[in-house]
Order: sequence, then C-alpha cells, then structure tokens
Amino acid sequence: MQTLTIKCKPILSDEERGAIDATMEAFAAACNDAIRVGREMGTTSNVRIHHACYKDLRANHGLTANLAVRAIARAAGILKVRKRRRSTVRPTSIDYDARIFSFREADWTVSLSTISGRIRVPIRVGDYQKQLLSGRKPKSAVVWKTRQNEYYIGIHVDVEAPPPGFEEKHGTHDASRWIGVDLGIVNIATLDDGTAFSSDTLEETRTRYHRTRRSLQRKGTRGARCVLRRLSGKERRFQQAVNHEISRRIVDKAAAEGKGVRLEDLSGIRDRMRVRKSQRRRHHGWAFYDLRSKIEYKCALAGVPFEMVDPRYTSRRCPVCGHTEKANRKSQSEFRCRSCGLEAHADMIGAINISLGGAVNRPEVALRTFGRLDDWTRHASRRV
Ligand SMILES: [Zn+2]
Repeated sequence: MQTLTIKCKPILSDEERGAIDATMEAFAAACNDAIRVGREMGTTSNVRIHHACYKDLRANHGLTANLAVRAIARAAGILKVRKRRRSTVRPTSIDYDARIFSFREADWTVSLSTISGRIRVPIRVGDYQKQLLSGRKPKSAVVWKTRQNEYYIGIHVDVEAPPPGFEEKHGTHDASRWIGVDLGIVNIATLDDGTAFSSDTLEETRTRYHRTRRSLQRKGTRGARCVLRRLSGKERRFQQAVNHEISRRIVDKAAAEGKGVRLEDLSGIRDRMRVRKSQRRRHHGWAFYDLRSKIEYKCALAGVPFEMVDPRYTSRRCPVCGHTEKANRKSQSEFRCRSCGLEAHADMIGAINISLGGAVNRPEVALRTFGRLDDWTRHASRRV
C-alpha cells in the first residue's frame, strides 16, 4: 500500500477563510503546548502526552476532540526528531483525520472541522485529481496556507500495492523486472537500458530565466520583485510540462513491458541539495520532487509497481562485479570499474544499480542477475 497526497485548492468564502485561519492559530498553539508538555515530561510518547494535556488543549484552544488528537500526534512526531525538538509550530496548517474531514465525490466537496463548526467547501480538481480521488474514501488530509496566502488541501489517498504475488514472481532483486531511473541535472532521467531524457529547450529556458533573474535581482526594486515572482511561476510550469512528458513515457514503457519502476529515494537528494546551497541546485531539488510525484501517481493509475531505493553508492558501484569505489566514477558522465574494467555512461550505471534495488552493502546482489549481465556489458560498452 502506498499513500499519495493529492493537492487541491479549496474554494473558500471570506468567512470560511477566517474560520480556517482561527483554527490554524488554535492548532499551532495546541501543538506548541503539547511540545512543551512532552519536553517537560521528557517523553515523545503520543499516549503519555495525551494523558497529560488533552483536556487542557481542548479547553484552552477551543479545539474539537480530534483536532486536539491531531495536534498531540503532530507534537509527538516533532519531538521524535532530534533536530526539530526545539522548534515551534507556525499557524499555517492543520492535520485532519477521518473524524474531522471527509470528501464527497458527488459534488467534489470536502467537509472540514474548524473551531467555529464544520464547513463544507468545494475543491478545484483537474483530471489528475479526479482520476485519483474518484471512487475512493480518503481518511486523512492536511490543510495549509502559503506565504502568499493561498490555501491548499492535501488529501491522502491509499493506492493499491503491486498485485499479490508480484514479489515472488519478480523477485526483489531481479532487475529485469524493474526499470531503474537515475535522476540527474544534465540528463533529467536516465533508464537502465541507456535511454536518457534531457531537454535542450528546458536548459535554454532555464539559462534565459536565470540571466533575467540575476539582472532583476540586482535592480532590487518592488517592480523587479514582482516580475521575479511571475518569472519563477512560468519557469516552474515549463519544468512541470517537461516532467509530465518524461514521467508519461517512463510509466508507459514500464506498463508495456510489465515492469515496475524504481527510483532513488529523494530525501537523499534533498540532503545533498541542502549542502550545496546555490539557487540553481535548490531549483533542481524542487524539480526532482515534482518528477518523482508525477512518476509515482502515474504508476499508481497504471497499476505499475513503484518503489524507492536507497541511493547510496548507486553512482560508485559496479553492477557487474560489485566493486564499490569512488574512483570508479571518473567524471560526471564517465564510469569505469577499477576492478573489472566495465565502462559505461555514469548515469546509466546509476540507473542499473537502482533497478537492482539500490543494494547497499550487498555487492553479491549484482552477481545474482546473471541473465542480464551480458546484455548490459555489451550494451554498456557500446555506449561509451
Ligand atoms: Zn566491475
């Protein structure tokens, strides 16, 4: 079972917006109280925090029962992450569960509990949202507000796991049953058979926007800031269109070949992005997420298994002999195994390793996939 978050825009009246804002304030205040209580008690346990402050939270912040329950759950979640233990919750979102949220397909509305009562609001849905929401009974959601004061609701939808028996039949480490996708900057996506998706137009557009942006930033006037915002929207939409096309082709291919899709776990990419702080990289971080979620939901719709794998060593490991060394990767694009001499495009090597399930510390996995090795080796050396 996998859970997708379907992002929709609720259509709110001023009054409803007020009710949601007030609920966000109360929810955040309750979260912060619960965090404080947990810290004082030295616990991260949902149950213990609940016993200590549930009644107070309801009384002090006017929350309904399950809004208080959700605030406590949020607080416990935050306390469990060492890095976030000192943080506070800002009044920009609310968590919902089945008792305080529901979705009705007949008129595409959601019902939400607020501190001033229940409201039922229409949501704006495109084809993507329609396909994923229709016929389902989502049980949780999150409502949030952006800095530009735009409201969104993310509805959590559970989608089917791969058909039963898939695992035995296909074997977790049998790469011939999985398409591995390596995400990169030069090639947006590379598959384990060497197919690479890049976009010259995208690169061009990006560079052009980048230049305009720099000169506007130097200007720094209010008007310039306005143009900047519009520009980033345009650039984003363009990237989204490209990602849509790439994800379509990958998932169609997987469906046609009866394979699943494996991708690097992108939380790793985000961490790497955070290290290199340039604007450009951050933009790419966003683009990776967008591409991943597009692949994920298209897989869900097509009944194609989708899996994320540990990305560690995927760029340094030789998929043929399992030898893992940083020096295997000669440059951004070249891979040459220092042990067996396998040469191929580095992105393709990454994709092959991902198709193998990103077997960290398990070089023997590479050797298990005999049938494909010859193909790869031949194929790989052709592409150098
Ligand atoms: Zn090797």
